Amino acid sequence: MSNYSRKSVLLIIAFIVALLFSTLIGFAMLNSNGKTSSELVLVSFLISFISSLILLLFVNVYVFKKINQLLVTVRDFRLQSDKPSSNINYTSNELSNLNSEIVAWAEDRKNEIERLKKLEVYRREFLGNVSHELKTPIFNIQGYILTLLDGGLDDPSINKNYLMRAEKSVDRMITIIDDLESISQLETGELQIEPERFDIAFLVKDVMDAQEMKATAKGIILSLADELKPVFVLADRFRIRQVLVNLIVNSVKYGKEYGETKVRFHDLGNNISIEISDNGIGIDKEHLPRLFERFYRVDKSRSREQGGTGLGLAIVKHIIEAHNQTINVMSTAGVGTVFSFTLKKG
Ligand code: ADP
Repeated sequence: MSNYSRKSVLLIIAFIVALLFSTLIGFAMLNSNGKTSSELVLVSFLISFISSLILLLFVNVYVFKKINQLLVTVRDFRLQSDKPSSNINYTSNELSNLNSEIVAWAEDRKNEIERLKKLEVYRREFLGNVSHELKTPIFNIQGYILTLLDGGLDDPSINKNYLMRAEKSVDRMITIIDDLESISQLETGELQIEPERFDIAFLVKDVMDAQEMKATAKGIILSLADELKPVFVLADRFRIRQVLVNLIVNSVKYGKEYGETKVRFHDLGNNISIEISDNGIGIDKEHLPRLFERFYRVDKSRSREQGGTGLGLAIVKHIIEAHNQTINVMSTAGVGTVFSFTLKKG
């Protein structure tokens, strides 16, 4: 309500009060002839009009001062939250401004509660997944140690073998913990991207050479689609190596025997697209939207058998997003999979 209309309302109220009061006085002062003193009615009208107007003006100033204070408090509270809702268009009506502030504040609180609920679900799921992943190698180690303690230590046919298996389970635990550490560093923003100019074609070749033994064991050929020539990008070399290792190792893990993995580069102007394709087992369409979630696996037992933690693609996505770039996947079950991501040209 504008100041002008508020004052008009106060005047009207004071007028009505004065009218009622002077009418009452007029009736009270009626003489035996049924007449009353018009001066007295006029004076009582004026006095009651002026006094009620003063009283109303005082209350008005006091009340609206308090409303404005309340408005400032609510606005401060709202702006302190993580993601305050967009700005409010204030009008000259304090009450409607206060109402808008309270509605925006309640909306922010509701969103915040929803966000916290989601986080809580994620935290519970995450803890459940972590303990589930760690349980298997821990129980394995316990099993081997108990068997060795129960006399297996003196049995040369199993003692060394069981110790080697226990060692393998320890390795698995270390892999899970390393991946968890990477995920937590990437999610808390602790991990800073340190961009540098480097030749990604050379890096791909380097990763392929390192994975050649694993690939050859399955008869898989790792190669560059085109002849090796420099492709410069501006990115965090160490982190991009981690991305390439994950994608190339996956292409072998989920590749068919005697298959092949090819890496191609495409010049997109400001960016370079890096494409890793395989002709392996592929992924059913229904799994694709969730593939980059932590611990998401298409075939849990196959992944574990291959030493997977289900965290690789989540880490890959975090790293690419930390570079403000994107990663995509296309796949057909039984035919093969193509992962492609972009990087800034160097
Ligand atoms: P994992 O440790 O299980 O390999 P990732 O996060 O690297 O975890 O991958 C998640 C899941 O995506 C894998 O369990 C697998 O089912 C599927 N996947 C990843 N890469 C490929 C690929 N090249 N071909 C087929 N399936 C794949």
